[in-house]
Amino acid sequence: NTTLEQEDKEIFNIVENEKLRQWSGLELIASENFTSQAVIEANGTPLTNKYSEGLPGARYYGGNEFIDELEELCRKRALDAFGLNPEQWGVNVQPYSGSTANFAALTALIQPQDRLMGLDLPSGGHLTHGYQTNKKKISSSSIYFQSMPYQVDPATGLIDYKRLEENAALFRPKLLICGASAYPREFEYDTMRRIADQHGAYLMCDMAHISGLIAGKQAISPFDYCDVVTTTTHKTLRGPRAGLIFFRRDKGDGLEGRVNQAVFPSCQGGPHNNTIAAVAVALKQAGSPEFKEYAKQVIANAQKLAETLIGFGYRLSSNGTSNHLILWDLKPQKLTGSKVERICDMVHITINKNSIAGDKSAVTPGGVRLGANALTSRSMKEEDMVKVGEYLHRTVQIALKVQEQAGSKLMKDFVAACEGNEEIAQLKKEV
Ligand code: PLP
Repeated sequence: NTTLEQEDKEIFNIVENEKLRQWSGLELIASENFTSQAVIEANGTPLTNKYSEGLPGARYYGGNEFIDELEELCRKRALDAFGLNPEQWGVNVQPYSGSTANFAALTALIQPQDRLMGLDLPSGGHLTHGYQTNKKKISSSSIYFQSMPYQVDPATGLIDYKRLEENAALFRPKLLICGASAYPREFEYDTMRRIADQHGAYLMCDMAHISGLIAGKQAISPFDYCDVVTTTTHKTLRGPRAGLIFFRRDKGDGLEGRVNQAVFPSCQGGPHNNTIAAVAVALKQAGSPEFKEYAKQVIANAQKLAETLIGFGYRLSSNGTSNHLILWDLKPQKLTGSKVERICDMVHITINKNSIAGDKSAVTPGGVRLGANALTSRSMKEEDMVKVGEYLHRTVQIALKVQEQAGSKLMKDFVAACEGNEEIAQLKKEV
């Protein structure tokens, strides 16, 4: 019964250092958040000791009476959080993550080598939506299925639905995927549904990034249009790291059985019951009036940050945002996202480099992605976002000067030129 600190000081110290890092800097990664103490507590319980392959009432192991109760409650809360009628929708709460949820959903919906269309990764889509390059099939979603990604129009940053419809007419997909990792605007779910119907295709939405905004009723619900909806639980939804798969159960096509079978035994083994408990806690919180206010504030904060950056003369993809994230195009400044990310790291602002539609390389992309969800969990408001925007402007100014001093475009020369830079030290102090 020794504590972590007594038992393993090395791991304890790593945890403490990471806690300090998370709290002493500005966290602007759009896919991260700060879970509540209750979620962390549930995640660290002896529920992790239990095997429970199968579903409530039909397990491959004994001793699951409390785990059954847990999973039933989590499923109920998941449906409640998104206002779903249990006659129409069901949910599987066992996926370990968003990626496994997506692969299980594909396994349930289509056959190996069937055709799918998802938003291309350089356009803001996720790897698991069929990502491949000209040279290589990268994701298992393009290795085991045939993928033809659709793109955003580089001029507007908006999805080119006309081209998607034309390409779908040639490719005749069995599955259309909406949802993204870096798209600052709403999807046109009605258009996607219409295109899917033209080919008798399933429509799936991966709402991972915006599921908290949907639960908080601040974004359009994809449930009104889609056959299957997947999500991670740790982004705007503010839960532990896991995934969920929602499926229509009223269409008479056996989706419920296919999704459940795809999760276990096709793609996974025993569920992580401690995580399911933590997901259940987060889903209860997501149904509260406070969470609705949180979701509202996330969007207000992201929009204020966007406005501040535009005020400094920067270019944002689609010229702003309707959700929690901003895609900041640094090509007009002749800077890569990697360099700005590096300076931000040095001053304790955490962001991630991100490709902008039309970029030549995903390794040295031309922009960065910013999200307001984590800072909003730390109670920040619009006036704080103005300050954050000013800090970000200063990082870009510093990066430009350092790039000039470095005398080359190479990252190693850039990093060397940062050495002993007083402006970086000063900004770090202020942040
Ligand atoms: N789907 C989307 C849209 C995502 O943005 C991500 C992760 O960032 C995932 C799925 C994958 O989630 P995980 O990292 O939990 O596998």
